[in-house]
Amino acid sequence: MKIVYLDNAATTKMSDKVINEMTKSFSENYGNPSSVHTLGQRAKSTVENARHIVAKNLKAETTEIVFTSGGAEGNNLVIRGFLKANKDKEKHIITSKIEHSTILKTFEQLEKEGYEVSYIGVNETGVVDIEELKRELREDTALVSIMFVNNETGVIQLIKEIGEILAERNIFFHTDAVQAIGKLKILPKDLKINALTATAHKFYGPKGAGFVFIDKKYSVEKEIWGGSQERNRRAGTENVHGILGLGVALEEVYENLEEISEKENKLQNYLENKLKIEIEKLGKKIKINGEKANRIKTTTNVYIEGVDIQMLLVALDLRGICISGGSACMSGSLENSHVLKAMGLTDEELKGSFRISIGKDTTIEEIDYFVENLIEVIL
Ligand SMILES: *Cc1c(COP(=O)(O)O)cnc(C)c1O
Repeated sequence: MKIVYLDNAATTKMSDKVINEMTKSFSENYGNPSSVHTLGQRAKSTVENARHIVAKNLKAETTEIVFTSGGAEGNNLVIRGFLKANKDKEKHIITSKIEHSTILKTFEQLEKEGYEVSYIGVNETGVVDIEELKRELREDTALVSIMFVNNETGVIQLIKEIGEILAERNIFFHTDAVQAIGKLKILPKDLKINALTATAHKFYGPKGAGFVFIDKKYSVEKEIWGGSQERNRRAGTENVHGILGLGVALEEVYENLEEISEKENKLQNYLENKLKIEIEKLGKKIKINGEKANRIKTTTNVYIEGVDIQMLLVALDLRGICISGGSACMSGSLENSHVLKAMGLTDEELKGSFRISIGKDTTIEEIDYFVENLIEVIL
Protein backbone atom coordinates (compact mmCIF):
# COMPACT_ATOMS: atom_id res chain seq x y z
CA MET A 1 0.00 0.00 0.00
CA LYS A 2 1.09 3.53 -0.74
CA ILE A 3 1.96 5.41 2.46
CA VAL A 4 1.36 9.13 2.70
CA TYR A 5 3.08 10.37 5.82
CA LEU A 6 1.58 13.60 7.17
CA ASP A 7 2.61 13.23 10.80
CA ASN A 8 6.00 14.96 10.78
CA ALA A 9 5.28 16.74 14.06
CA ALA A 10 5.21 13.33 15.77
CA THR A 11 8.46 12.26 14.18
CA THR A 12 10.30 12.47 10.87
CA LYS A 13 11.93 9.97 8.55
CA MET A 14 15.72 10.15 8.73
CA SER A 15 17.30 11.81 5.70
CA ASP A 16 19.37 9.63 3.34
CA LYS A 17 22.53 11.43 4.36
CA VAL A 18 21.86 10.71 8.03
CA ILE A 19 21.16 7.04 7.31
CA ASN A 20 24.34 6.68 5.22
CA GLU A 21 26.63 8.32 7.74
CA MET A 22 25.15 6.48 10.70
CA THR A 23 25.37 3.13 8.87
CA LYS A 24 29.07 3.69 8.23
CA SER A 25 29.57 4.68 11.84
CA PHE A 26 27.86 1.50 13.13
CA SER A 27 30.51 -0.71 11.59
CA GLU A 28 33.62 1.46 11.79
CA ASN A 29 33.25 3.78 14.71
CA TYR A 30 32.51 1.49 17.64
CA GLY A 31 34.97 2.81 20.21
CA ASN A 32 33.98 4.24 23.57
CA PRO A 33 34.64 8.01 23.62
CA SER A 34 36.12 7.65 27.11
CA SER A 35 38.81 5.21 25.91
CA VAL A 36 42.20 6.72 25.20
CA HIS A 37 43.12 4.49 22.24
CA THR A 38 42.63 5.45 18.60
CA LEU A 39 39.17 4.00 18.21
CA GLY A 40 38.00 5.65 21.41
CA GLN A 41 39.37 9.00 20.34
CA ARG A 42 37.73 8.63 16.93
CA ALA A 43 34.36 8.18 18.65
CA LYS A 44 35.10 11.13 20.89
CA SER A 45 35.84 13.35 17.93
CA THR A 46 32.56 12.25 16.31
CA VAL A 47 30.70 13.47 19.38
CA GLU A 48 32.69 16.69 19.62
CA ASN A 49 32.20 17.40 15.93
CA ALA A 50 28.43 17.13 16.36
CA ARG A 51 28.63 19.39 19.41
CA HIS A 52 30.51 21.92 17.31
CA ILE A 53 27.79 21.82 14.62
CA VAL A 54 25.06 22.44 17.21
CA ALA A 55 27.00 25.23 18.92
CA LYS A 56 27.78 26.94 15.61
CA ASN A 57 24.16 26.90 14.46
CA LEU A 58 22.93 28.30 17.78
CA LYS A 59 25.85 30.74 18.12
CA ALA A 60 26.56 29.14 21.47
CA GLU A 61 29.71 27.71 23.01
CA THR A 62 30.38 23.98 22.77
CA THR A 63 30.50 23.75 26.57
CA GLU A 64 26.91 25.00 26.64
CA ILE A 65 25.60 21.96 24.74
CA VAL A 66 24.69 18.72 26.55
CA PHE A 67 23.64 15.66 24.57
CA THR A 68 20.63 13.75 25.90
CA SER A 69 18.35 10.93 24.80
CA GLY A 70 15.79 13.43 23.45
CA GLY A 71 13.14 15.97 24.37
CA ALA A 72 11.71 14.27 27.43
CA GLU A 73 15.09 13.86 29.08
CA GLY A 74 16.21 17.34 28.06
CA ASN A 75 13.14 19.00 29.56
CA ASN A 76 13.56 17.04 32.79
CA LEU A 77 17.28 17.74 33.00
CA VAL A 78 16.88 21.48 32.64
CA ILE A 79 13.83 21.98 34.85
CA ARG A 80 14.61 19.57 37.66
CA GLY A 81 18.36 20.01 37.35
CA PHE A 82 18.16 23.79 37.57
CA LEU A 83 15.89 23.73 40.61
CA LYS A 84 18.14 21.22 42.41
CA ALA A 85 21.29 23.18 41.67
CA ASN A 86 20.12 26.71 42.32
CA LYS A 87 16.90 27.55 43.95
CA ASP A 88 16.47 26.13 47.41
CA LYS A 89 14.38 28.97 48.76
CA GLU A 90 12.44 30.02 45.69
CA LYS A 91 9.40 27.80 45.43
CA HIS A 92 7.39 29.34 42.60
CA ILE A 93 7.68 28.17 39.01
CA ILE A 94 5.75 29.11 35.86
CA THR A 95 4.78 27.34 32.67
CA SER A 96 1.88 27.49 30.20
CA LYS A 97 -1.28 25.45 29.76
CA ILE A 98 -0.29 24.31 26.27
CA GLU A 99 3.06 22.66 26.97
CA HIS A 100 4.02 19.17 25.86
CA SER A 101 3.33 16.44 28.43
CA THR A 102 7.07 16.18 29.19
CA ILE A 103 6.84 19.68 30.69
CA LEU A 104 3.33 19.53 32.12
CA LYS A 105 3.85 16.21 33.91
CA THR A 106 7.19 17.40 35.27
CA PHE A 107 5.56 20.52 36.68
CA GLU A 108 2.68 18.49 38.14
CA GLN A 109 5.24 16.28 39.87
CA LEU A 110 7.11 19.33 41.17
CA GLU A 111 3.82 20.60 42.57
CA LYS A 112 3.54 17.37 44.57
CA GLU A 113 7.10 17.94 45.77
CA GLY A 114 6.16 21.34 47.22
CA TYR A 115 6.58 23.86 44.41
CA GLU A 116 3.84 26.35 43.60
CA VAL A 117 3.04 26.41 39.89
CA SER A 118 1.31 29.05 37.76
CA TYR A 119 -0.07 27.72 34.47
CA ILE A 120 -0.42 30.62 32.01
CA GLY A 121 -3.33 30.58 29.56
CA VAL A 122 -3.49 31.41 25.86
CA ASN A 123 -5.75 33.55 23.70
CA GLU A 124 -8.10 32.06 21.09
CA THR A 125 -5.30 31.87 18.54
CA GLY A 126 -3.10 29.81 20.86
CA VAL A 127 -0.59 32.48 21.88
CA VAL A 128 0.54 32.50 25.52
CA ASP A 129 -0.84 35.54 27.37
CA ILE A 130 2.13 37.78 28.21
CA GLU A 131 0.12 40.12 30.43
CA GLU A 132 -0.96 37.18 32.55
CA LEU A 133 2.64 35.98 32.70
CA LYS A 134 3.77 39.40 33.94
CA ARG A 135 1.07 39.40 36.63
CA GLU A 136 2.15 35.97 37.87
CA LEU A 137 5.83 36.85 38.31
CA ARG A 138 6.83 36.96 41.99
CA GLU A 139 9.85 37.67 44.16
CA ASP A 140 10.29 33.94 44.66
CA THR A 141 9.79 32.85 41.02
CA ALA A 142 12.63 30.43 40.31
CA LEU A 143 12.08 29.72 36.64
CA VAL A 144 9.76 30.06 33.65
CA SER A 145 9.36 27.44 30.91
CA ILE A 146 7.38 28.38 27.79
CA MET A 147 7.56 26.34 24.59
CA PHE A 148 8.85 27.93 21.38
CA VAL A 149 6.38 26.33 18.95
CA ASN A 150 3.32 24.35 19.96
CA ASN A 151 3.34 20.77 18.71
CA GLU A 152 -0.41 20.55 18.05
CA THR A 153 -1.10 23.89 16.37
CA GLY A 154 2.33 25.03 15.12
CA VAL A 155 1.75 28.41 16.78
CA ILE A 156 4.99 30.32 17.43
CA GLN A 157 5.14 31.90 20.88
CA LEU A 158 6.37 35.41 21.73
CA ILE A 159 9.72 34.12 22.92
CA LYS A 160 11.70 37.32 22.35
CA GLU A 161 9.23 39.40 24.38
CA ILE A 162 9.15 36.82 27.17
CA GLY A 163 12.95 36.63 27.18
CA GLU A 164 13.19 40.38 27.64
CA ILE A 165 10.68 40.49 30.48
CA LEU A 166 12.45 37.69 32.35
CA ALA A 167 15.97 38.98 31.73
CA GLU A 168 14.98 42.29 33.31
CA ARG A 169 14.04 40.43 36.46
CA ASN A 170 16.88 37.94 36.24
CA ILE A 171 14.55 34.90 36.13
CA PHE A 172 15.81 31.70 34.49
CA PHE A 173 14.06 31.15 31.15
CA HIS A 174 13.80 27.73 29.52
CA THR A 175 12.05 26.97 26.25
CA ASP A 176 11.05 23.58 24.85
CA ALA A 177 12.18 24.26 21.27
CA VAL A 178 11.64 20.72 20.01
CA GLN A 179 9.18 21.86 17.32
CA ALA A 180 11.24 24.93 16.41
CA ILE A 181 14.84 23.76 16.07
CA GLY A 182 15.52 22.88 12.44
CA LYS A 183 12.54 24.94 11.25
CA LEU A 184 13.37 28.42 12.49
CA LYS A 185 16.78 30.03 12.87
CA ILE A 186 17.19 30.31 16.63
CA LEU A 187 19.95 32.16 18.44
CA PRO A 188 19.16 31.65 22.13
CA LYS A 189 21.41 34.42 23.42
CA ASP A 190 19.81 37.04 21.15
CA LEU A 191 16.43 35.93 22.46
CA LYS A 192 17.62 35.93 26.10
CA ILE A 193 16.87 32.23 26.41
CA ASN A 194 18.89 30.64 29.21
CA ALA A 195 18.15 27.02 28.32
CA LEU A 196 16.58 25.25 25.38
CA THR A 197 15.58 21.67 24.55
CA ALA A 198 15.74 19.92 21.16
CA THR A 199 15.49 16.38 19.80
CA ALA A 200 16.91 14.95 16.56
CA HIS A 201 13.96 12.87 15.44
CA LYS A 202 11.86 15.97 14.83
CA PHE A 203 14.39 17.29 12.27
CA TYR A 204 15.19 14.17 10.19
CA GLY A 205 17.67 12.72 12.65
CA PRO A 206 17.47 9.51 14.67
CA LYS A 207 15.19 8.80 17.63
CA GLY A 208 16.86 8.68 21.01
CA ALA A 209 19.28 11.58 20.51
CA GLY A 210 18.75 15.18 21.60
CA PHE A 211 20.50 18.13 23.13
CA VAL A 212 19.99 20.94 25.56
CA PHE A 213 21.62 24.35 25.44
CA ILE A 214 22.34 25.73 28.90
CA ASP A 215 23.84 29.20 29.15
CA LYS A 216 27.22 28.99 30.89
CA LYS A 217 26.08 31.47 33.52
CA TYR A 218 23.86 28.73 34.94
CA SER A 219 24.46 25.26 36.26
CA VAL A 220 22.17 22.25 36.50
CA GLU A 221 22.41 19.22 38.75
CA LYS A 222 22.62 16.00 36.76
CA GLU A 223 19.64 13.64 36.67
CA ILE A 224 21.67 10.57 35.75
CA TRP A 225 24.60 9.77 38.04
CA GLY A 226 27.68 7.74 37.20
CA GLY A 227 30.55 8.70 34.91
CA SER A 228 31.63 12.26 34.22
CA GLN A 229 30.51 12.42 30.59
CA GLU A 230 29.03 15.63 29.19
CA ARG A 231 31.15 17.67 31.65
CA ASN A 232 29.55 15.88 34.52
CA ARG A 233 26.02 16.83 33.54
CA ARG A 234 24.85 13.47 32.17
CA ALA A 235 26.46 10.12 32.98
CA GLY A 236 26.56 7.23 30.54
CA THR A 237 28.49 6.24 27.43
CA GLU A 238 27.57 8.70 24.69
CA ASN A 239 25.10 7.62 22.00
CA VAL A 240 27.87 8.10 19.42
CA HIS A 241 25.95 7.08 16.29
CA GLY A 242 22.81 8.93 17.36
CA ILE A 243 24.77 12.07 18.16
CA LEU A 244 26.53 11.81 14.79
CA GLY A 245 23.11 11.57 13.10
CA LEU A 246 21.84 14.55 15.10
CA GLY A 247 24.74 16.68 13.89
CA VAL A 248 24.39 15.64 10.26
CA ALA A 249 20.63 16.26 10.35
CA LEU A 250 20.93 19.68 11.98
CA GLU A 251 23.60 20.82 9.54
CA GLU A 252 21.51 19.62 6.61
CA VAL A 253 18.28 21.39 7.60
CA TYR A 254 20.00 24.65 8.47
CA GLU A 255 22.11 24.69 5.31
CA ASN A 256 18.91 24.35 3.27
CA LEU A 257 16.57 26.26 5.58
CA GLU A 258 15.49 28.92 3.12
CA GLU A 259 14.73 26.49 0.33
CA ILE A 260 12.90 24.06 2.62
CA SER A 261 10.83 26.81 4.27
CA GLU A 262 9.81 28.27 0.94
CA LYS A 263 8.67 24.88 -0.32
CA GLU A 264 6.79 24.10 2.90
CA ASN A 265 5.16 27.52 2.90
CA LYS A 266 3.75 26.92 -0.58
CA LEU A 267 2.60 23.42 0.34
CA GLN A 268 0.87 24.59 3.51
CA ASN A 269 -0.98 27.34 1.64
CA TYR A 270 -1.99 24.85 -1.01
CA LEU A 271 -3.21 22.36 1.60
CA GLU A 272 -5.20 24.89 3.62
CA ASN A 273 -6.81 26.55 0.59
CA LYS A 274 -7.75 23.23 -0.92
CA LEU A 275 -9.20 21.99 2.36
CA LYS A 276 -11.34 25.11 2.75
CA ILE A 277 -12.63 24.96 -0.81
CA GLU A 278 -13.45 21.26 -0.77
CA ILE A 279 -15.04 21.20 2.69
CA GLU A 280 -17.14 24.30 2.02
CA LYS A 281 -18.37 22.62 -1.17
CA LEU A 282 -19.84 19.95 1.10
CA GLY A 283 -21.65 22.66 3.05
CA LYS A 284 -19.65 21.94 6.19
CA LYS A 285 -17.88 24.40 8.46
CA ILE A 286 -14.09 24.34 8.54
CA LYS A 287 -11.67 26.24 10.78
CA ILE A 288 -7.89 26.26 10.98
CA ASN A 289 -7.10 26.36 14.69
CA GLY A 290 -4.67 29.20 15.44
CA GLU A 291 -4.91 30.47 11.86
CA LYS A 292 -4.46 34.14 12.76
CA ALA A 293 -1.33 33.51 14.83
CA ASN A 294 2.20 33.32 13.51
CA ARG A 295 2.67 29.61 12.72
CA ILE A 296 5.41 27.34 11.42
CA LYS A 297 4.83 26.13 7.89
CA THR A 298 4.64 22.42 8.65
CA THR A 299 1.75 22.12 11.07
CA THR A 300 -1.94 22.64 10.34
CA ASN A 301 -4.58 21.91 12.97
CA VAL A 302 -8.05 21.87 11.48
CA TYR A 303 -11.62 21.51 12.70
CA ILE A 304 -14.20 20.08 10.34
CA GLU A 305 -17.88 20.13 11.28
CA GLY A 306 -19.43 16.78 12.08
CA VAL A 307 -16.18 14.82 11.95
CA ASP A 308 -15.41 12.14 14.52
CA ILE A 309 -11.66 12.13 14.87
CA GLN A 310 -11.20 8.56 16.07
CA MET A 311 -13.18 7.20 13.11
CA LEU A 312 -11.47 9.54 10.67
CA LEU A 313 -7.95 8.50 11.73
CA VAL A 314 -8.78 4.82 11.31
CA ALA A 315 -10.48 5.30 7.94
CA LEU A 316 -7.55 7.32 6.58
CA ASP A 317 -5.04 4.85 7.97
CA LEU A 318 -6.77 2.10 5.96
CA ARG A 319 -5.99 4.21 2.89
CA GLY A 320 -2.34 4.56 3.87
CA ILE A 321 -2.58 8.10 5.21
CA CYS A 322 -0.85 8.85 8.51
CA ILE A 323 -2.16 11.87 10.39
CA SER A 324 -2.71 12.50 14.06
CA GLY A 325 -5.38 13.62 16.49
CA GLY A 326 -3.26 16.21 18.19
CA SER A 327 -0.10 14.99 19.82
CA ALA A 328 1.39 11.54 19.45
CA CYS A 329 1.12 11.04 23.17
CA MET A 330 -2.62 11.59 23.00
CA SER A 331 -3.36 9.06 20.30
CA GLY A 332 -4.99 5.94 21.53
CA SER A 333 -6.66 7.87 24.31
CA LEU A 334 -10.05 9.50 23.98
CA GLU A 335 -9.02 12.53 25.98
CA ASN A 336 -9.56 15.90 24.36
CA SER A 337 -6.58 18.09 23.53
CA HIS A 338 -5.53 20.28 26.47
CA VAL A 339 -4.06 22.74 23.95
CA LEU A 340 -7.24 23.27 21.96
CA LYS A 341 -9.25 23.35 25.19
CA ALA A 342 -7.03 26.18 26.48
CA MET A 343 -7.80 28.03 23.22
CA GLY A 344 -11.49 27.85 24.09
CA LEU A 345 -12.76 25.42 21.46
CA THR A 346 -16.23 23.96 22.04
CA ASP A 347 -16.73 20.25 22.77
CA GLU A 348 -17.94 19.72 19.21
CA GLU A 349 -14.84 21.48 17.85
CA LEU A 350 -12.54 19.47 20.13
CA LYS A 351 -13.99 16.22 18.83
CA GLY A 352 -13.60 17.27 15.21
CA SER A 353 -10.06 18.72 15.22
CA PHE A 354 -6.94 16.99 13.93
CA ARG A 355 -3.37 17.71 12.91
CA ILE A 356 -1.75 17.44 9.50
CA SER A 357 2.02 17.94 9.60
CA ILE A 358 3.99 18.06 6.38
CA GLY A 359 7.76 17.77 5.97
CA LYS A 360 10.56 18.70 3.61
CA ASP A 361 9.81 15.74 1.33
CA THR A 362 6.01 16.10 1.18
CA THR A 363 4.67 16.55 -2.38
CA ILE A 364 1.64 18.24 -3.93
CA GLU A 365 0.49 14.81 -5.14
CA GLU A 366 0.47 13.53 -1.56
CA ILE A 367 -1.61 16.48 -0.43
CA ASP A 368 -4.06 15.91 -3.29
CA TYR A 369 -4.29 12.23 -2.34
CA PHE A 370 -4.94 13.16 1.28
CA VAL A 371 -7.66 15.72 0.54
CA GLU A 372 -9.43 13.44 -1.99
CA ASN A 373 -9.51 10.59 0.52
CA LEU A 374 -10.56 12.88 3.35
CA ILE A 375 -13.56 14.04 1.32
CA GLU A 376 -14.57 10.47 0.48
CA VAL A 377 -14.27 9.41 4.11
CA ILE A 378 -16.36 12.24 5.57
CA LEU A 379 -19.05 12.29 2.87
C1 LIG B 1 8.26 15.41 20.56
C2 LIG B 1 8.25 16.48 21.60
C3 LIG B 1 8.91 16.29 22.83
C4 LIG B 1 9.51 14.98 23.23
O1 LIG B 1 10.68 14.66 22.56
P1 LIG B 1 11.21 13.13 22.60
O2 LIG B 1 12.54 13.19 21.96
O3 LIG B 1 10.21 12.35 21.81
O4 LIG B 1 11.27 12.74 24.03
C5 LIG B 1 8.94 17.35 23.72
N1 LIG B 1 8.36 18.53 23.42
C6 LIG B 1 7.72 18.74 22.27
C7 LIG B 1 7.11 20.08 22.01
C8 LIG B 1 7.64 17.72 21.32
O5 LIG B 1 6.98 17.95 20.18
